[in-house]
Amino acid sequence: MQYFRPNINSMEAYAPGEQPQDGEFVKLNTNESPYPPFDDVLEAIRREVDGRLRLYPDPLCTRVRRQAARVFNVDPDMVIVGNGSDDILTITVRSFVGDGGKVVYLNPSYGLYGVLADIQNAKKCPIEYTDDYRLPPEIRQPDAKLTFICTPNNPTGTVTPPEEVAKVAERSHGIVAVDEAYADFAEQSCVDLVHRCDNILVLRSLSKSYSLAGLRIGLGIGNANLIAGMMKVKDSYNVQRLGIAGAEAALANVDKMKANAEKVKENRRYLAGQLEKLGFDVLPSQANFIFARPPMWHGHLARETDSRPGRPTRLRAGALYEELKTRRILVRYWNLPRLSDGIRISIGTRQELDAFLAATKEIFAGYNRK
Ligand SMILES: *Cc1c(COP(=O)(O)O)cnc(C)c1O
Repeated sequence: MQYFRPNINSMEAYAPGEQPQDGEFVKLNTNESPYPPFDDVLEAIRREVDGRLRLYPDPLCTRVRRQAARVFNVDPDMVIVGNGSDDILTITVRSFVGDGGKVVYLNPSYGLYGVLADIQNAKKCPIEYTDDYRLPPEIRQPDAKLTFICTPNNPTGTVTPPEEVAKVAERSHGIVAVDEAYADFAEQSCVDLVHRCDNILVLRSLSKSYSLAGLRIGLGIGNANLIAGMMKVKDSYNVQRLGIAGAEAALANVDKMKANAEKVKENRRYLAGQLEKLGFDVLPSQANFIFARPPMWHGHLARETDSRPGRPTRLRAGALYEELKTRRILVRYWNLPRLSDGIRISIGTRQELDAFLAATKEIFAGYNRK
């Protein structure tokens, strides 16, 4: 359409995971927590539902910043609060990248980075991870305005050690945004690097580990000057009253979050073991999901391009995704380079994982007979 800026006309929209509005699914496709929000959080939100909703919320999110500062061992002025960490990602791109500015990110990773760069009319610079999902040397682009590193990485679950992140930041003239949406399930974090590097911004989310995807709360943590500048860019009232109340209560219950994260890790070990028994290649994950490639087989299930007779080939991951969906089990599948031969499975409850495993075995058995 002629009314749009040319970069909007030519760009592809971000495609979020399905949120089915009808019928029951075992939902293992968008990395939500299988556990309910904490009682304190629900209570705090209920207490907020009254006549004060006629008033605007605190534009600075003071109470959330204070509580987050305690959790992450930083000062409150080193924290910015957003309507989900996606909002912080948007604020980041708008703050640091101008027309044609270079945005570096890894592939495969979270698809939103490239989309936000497109909206900004920035110059996208995707860099391939190495085969074992380490940072390649090309990640260091001296002229990058913004470099995204997602660790644990979505959708692979693999991590980048904080020392590697620090090396990138120390040699960059731009900002390094470390997307730690899944760090509560990992053994490491880059938050402490913000004291050392004034160009590192760490993003956290309450969506996954705090079971609050529906409340939309994300945090940016960095040097106070960085945060002060980003506060100029954000919408004044980007977090609403119920969000502020819920986020403050959630961050006051780190122990409950950690207990849930431990359950997720235990179920992650369980799922990885069961997938390996079924012959999947499983990437080592420190997140609340696992990326796994179905086993090599002979025959019918094979990817057409590889179906020379007698040759072992892979079950098409896309076919597995579809078969699971007809059994009302949702996982995530991308028909993209390096991802199209696998599926991403969120760590649900043990029951949900067993339903997924039983369905997968049934699908495998059906195909074996053909
Ligand atoms: C889920 C996710 C987000 C978005 O989190 P919200 O706080 O819900 O906006 C950001 N980055 C990555 C890598 C994610 O997987």
